[in-house]
Amino acid sequence: MIDLHCDTISRLAMPIHKGDLVHNPYSVDLERLEKAGSLVQCFSTFFDAGVYPMPFRREMAFKKANHMIDVFEKNIKLCGERMIPVCGTDDIEVCIERKKVGALLTLEDGAAIGSSLEHLHHFYDRGIRLITLTWNHENDIGYPNSGDPEVMSNGLKPFGMEVIEEMSRLGMIIDVSHLSDGGFWDVARHATKPFIASHSNSRSITVHSRNLTDAMIEAIAEKGGVIGLNFCPDFLGADKKSSISNMLHHIKHIYQVGGEDVLALGTDFDGISGKLQINSCDELWRLKEALQNHKMSSRVIDKMWQDNALRVMKEIL
Ligand SMILES: [Zn+2]
Repeated sequence: MIDLHCDTISRLAMPIHKGDLVHNPYSVDLERLEKAGSLVQCFSTFFDAGVYPMPFRREMAFKKANHMIDVFEKNIKLCGERMIPVCGTDDIEVCIERKKVGALLTLEDGAAIGSSLEHLHHFYDRGIRLITLTWNHENDIGYPNSGDPEVMSNGLKPFGMEVIEEMSRLGMIIDVSHLSDGGFWDVARHATKPFIASHSNSRSITVHSRNLTDAMIEAIAEKGGVIGLNFCPDFLGADKKSSISNMLHHIKHIYQVGGEDVLALGTDFDGISGKLQINSCDELWRLKEALQNHKMSSRVIDKMWQDNALRVMKEIL
C-alpha cells in the first residue's frame, strides 16, 4: 500500500498531542501501517502560512516547515528499524526486501521555499521528496484553487517555473493538489516528467475547486502521473459524506477518464475532519473489499493500492 498524503506529523507537532508515530489515537501510526501492509506512507509537513502577515510569511513558513521536519525526525527515531525514511529508490527496495514501512517526507505548501532556490535545496537536503506547490493561499510559486474564477485562472509565477524545473532536475515529485487551474495547466505544459495530484478527486462527480476536471485527469494520465483519492467529505459528494459509496463513484470515473494507470490513494488522514467511514490506515481493506465486490479486477486494485504510485516514485526519485 502507498498513501500519497497524510497530515499526522502536523498532529504530532501540536503543543498538546497524544502519542507518537509508533502509536497514537489519530488515523495513522506505525503499528497500524504495519498491520495494513504499507510500503510507503507519505507524511506531509503542513502549516497554514496564511496566518502570518505578508512581510513575515516567507520567514515563518520556512521556520515552521523546518520545525515539522524536526518533529518527523524525532518520531522516525522512535520507530527504530521498523520505519525507513525514503529519499531514493534504493530505500524503497530495502523496504520491499525487509518488509519495512517507508516514510516519504513531503512539503505541503511551497510557501516555505519563499522565493529562493537555495531554500528548495535546503529542503531537498533535509529529505523532502515531494512538494505540494501551494496550499490555499498565494505564494511565490503560484496561486491556490479558489471559487473566484480570476484567482483560479492564474498560472504559475516566473519563480514557480524555476521551481518545477529544479525539482525535476533534483528528483522531486511535483504535486498539483491545491493549485489553481491556471497553475495546473502550466505544470502540465512544462513538466518534463510525470507529476501528481496527491490528494484530489473528480470535479465531474463533486463540484469543488480542489477536485480535478476530466481534462486534468487526462493530462495527468498522459504524462504518466497519478491521482490520490482524497477521503475529505467535502470533496467526495454533495452530501458531504466520506462514504465508501461516494469513493467508488470517484474511483470509477477517474478510471474511465484516465485509465487504470492513474489511480492511487491520497487519504488526507489527520488533515480532514467530519464523519469518516474509513478513518484509520488499517481499515483501507474495506475500500478494497468494496472494489472487489464491484468487480474491479485485482490487477487494477493492485495498481491503485501501490503499483502506480511506486512507478512514479521509481521514475522521479
Ligand atoms: Zn491538503
